[in-house]
Amino acid sequence: MSVAAWWRLLAESGWGYPHWPVSRFGKGLTHQDHMEVERARTNVGAFGVPNDVGVTLVAPILMQYGNELLLDRYLDTIATGQEMWCQLFSEPDAGSDLAGLMTVADRDGDRWIINGSKVWTTGGHASRRAVLMARTDPKADRHAGISFFIIDMKQPGVSVSPLKDMTGDEEFNQVSLTNAEANSDDIIGGLGEGWRIAMTMLQHERDADAVGHDGGGDVINQVDLDAPVGKVQRDQEKGGAPSGFFYATGSVKDDVTFSLIERIASSQNPVLRDSITRAKIQRTILDLSARRELHPSVGKLLNSALCRELRDLGFVAGPASQFADGDAIDGGRFLKSALFASGMSIAGGTDEIQRNIIGERVLNLPREPAVEPKTDSREG
Ligand SMILES: Cc1cc2nc3c(=O)[nH]c(=O)nc-3n(C[C@H](O)[C@H](O)[C@H](O)COP(=O)(O)OP(=O)(O)OC[C@H]3O[C@@H](n4cnc5c(N)ncnc54)[C@H](O)[C@@H]3O)c2cc1C
Repeated sequence: MSVAAWWRLLAESGWGYPHWPVSRFGKGLTHQDHMEVERARTNVGAFGVPNDVGVTLVAPILMQYGNELLLDRYLDTIATGQEMWCQLFSEPDAGSDLAGLMTVADRDGDRWIINGSKVWTTGGHASRRAVLMARTDPKADRHAGISFFIIDMKQPGVSVSPLKDMTGDEEFNQVSLTNAEANSDDIIGGLGEGWRIAMTMLQHERDADAVGHDGGGDVINQVDLDAPVGKVQRDQEKGGAPSGFFYATGSVKDDVTFSLIERIASSQNPVLRDSITRAKIQRTILDLSARRELHPSVGKLLNSALCRELRDLGFVAGPASQFADGDAIDGGRFLKSALFASGMSIAGGTDEIQRNIIGERVLNLPREPAVEPKTDSREG
């Protein structure tokens, strides 16, 4: 059976996304039930649903803020993995201070013409569609003048250039928008609602990061939909599957890493023992994230701490963890994860921003003194 056929079967059975509504590929079950289904699926070794921005971030946003037209237009291709999506938020001068974004969209009849520059776009090279934040009212308050578009990445006005990270992979991209177009009915949640929707999406992203507790380090690519599902799964399990990982679920890498650090578990070195215990505690607490019992910023912060802890422990567990190939652990994937670990403290909002959110929104501490321009830092 091809990947395409398997993903359609999973989606239409309702068991791919059991937490989605019955009318929309789901079974109306809870998030907790969904995690149980995922666990059962993993235990029998069955191939999972797509795991790109479309499934993890866009689908929940469409169900919360989208209308019937948008759901009918996009949910099927998202659920069945036919189109990969990316997220066009960050700009060269707007990362933590996302409300400072400069990309503009000007109305032209029933279309919008978009100009600007986005950066760090994960998977942009392989994506068919994107969600994009753009300024639709330059005179409005900087949070109020932003709208949330769906755009076609394969149109002439969109140019994608790869950026190489220190693992040697080209997972990010710089995306230039020159008179790119979007339809008026491809705005999610209405004109000027972009900030509210983006903040909800970032919460979903932090939840997903925390649940995956993934050290990253895979090349993100569209999977070959016509390939036999068993072959794609075997390639993925071997590591370094040429068709990429956007469908991967679970925490392959930290299981590998935990088995690696079992080798040093009997160490009498108090620093190592302390570090191993801390990693195990962090992972146990992160399992609460899977049950949505942690604030997304707390989960995200713990995940980035765990990634760094595992990186350091893996490195001291043996020289093979430091090889890129040959005798390397897990075909060199550990090394890539380890090199990518610092990125987990930046993606989806940096650790410092998560601490600000926890301080101000969870603990109700006084706000950080504002600096000019006034920052409101990816808060959600
Ligand atoms: C692996 C990875 C994947 C990514 N994928 C995407 C993607 O798909 N789409 C997308 O749009 N973006 C993506 N990003 C970009 C990411 O969201 C931004 O890099 C991040 O929000 C930080 O913005 P910046 O890089 O501009 O850093 P800056 O905002 O310039 O921050 C620089 C430093 O200043 C600190 N800082 C800034 N403001 C404050 C404050 N108010 N209080 C305390 N400290 C502060 C930050 O913590 C950081 O240490 C990705 C990044 C990474 C690493």
